[in-house]
Amino acid sequence: MTDVHEDKTKCPHCGQKMNKWVPPLDANWSMAPQLVCFNDDCPYYVNGWEWMKSQFNQKASYRYRYNPQTGETGPLPVATPHARKGDIVE
Ligand SMILES: [Zn+2]
Repeated sequence: MTDVHEDKTKCPHCGQKMNKWVPPLDANWSMAPQLVCFNDDCPYYVNGWEWMKSQFNQKASYRYRYNPQTGETGPLPVATPHARKGDIVE
């Protein structure tokens, strides 16, 4: 039996395998690759649109991000469904 929460390469919100993603130069993160869930049906991402609209009246969302170097997880802000996809390396 596999527990998706123990596999850090899978998104804990939708269970999909996350993509390797390299932060752009303008980001404040190190250039170390991150793992990001780019599933457009991921509840974390889908609910993000609603949340940003209700909290900030902004048309934006965020995707689930995991830093394998530090173990840190957090949101990756996106303004469109295609945002950040150009930085996927795998
Ligand atoms: Zn996900």
